Amino acid sequence: MGPPGAGKGTQATGIAAHYGIPAISTGSIFRQNVADQTPLGLQIKSLMESGEYVPDALTVELVSERLSRPDCANGWLLDGFPRTLPQVMTLDDAGLFADAVISLVCDTEVLVARMLHRAEVEGRPDDNEATIRHRFEVYAAQTDPLLEVYHARGVVVDIDGIGSVEEVSSRITAALDAKLGH
Ligand code: AMP
Repeated sequence: MGPPGAGKGTQATGIAAHYGIPAISTGSIFRQNVADQTPLGLQIKSLMESGEYVPDALTVELVSERLSRPDCANGWLLDGFPRTLPQVMTLDDAGLFADAVISLVCDTEVLVARMLHRAEVEGRPDDNEATIRHRFEVYAAQTDPLLEVYHARGVVVDIDGIGSVEEVSSRITAALDAKLGH
């Protein structure tokens, strides 16, 4: 978990590869659906472009289906899910409890600069300036409170998210190995 632009996607891919498990990114799956103009993609295009969350029902259905595939049998890493309390409850109800929740801690101003840069180089249509601001508001209102829930369960691993990709990923694997006893 982490605010917009914290580098969740980049880190998720590297960390999942390190442990040999799939990284499941709801944001990339949604972006792919928008790009392919699937029925789901057409339904969520404007929400994503304005920085709103996709409705829980659609998100939960997608994640449940993905986690039921054979490559998830030995573990999984979720990137960008859960983002709302109902999404947390869905995982709980399915008996899917995370061993660890990685929280990337970053300064907001650093993140805004990083996101503007990323929007430029990747040409992501959901990353214009107004959308970026709105995404921070949505994150603060809907997703930040989830960290309290996971803190109470003792599963959160706080990671300083400022640094090079390699620095941050070393911090994550070191902290996870210590926590999970690898
Ligand atoms: P991300 O790449 O994780 O920042 O996700 C990009 C966009 O996809 C978000 O701004 C939301 O519109 C949508 N999205 C991704 N994951 C979720 C989720 N768990 N719940 C609702 N919307 C999501």
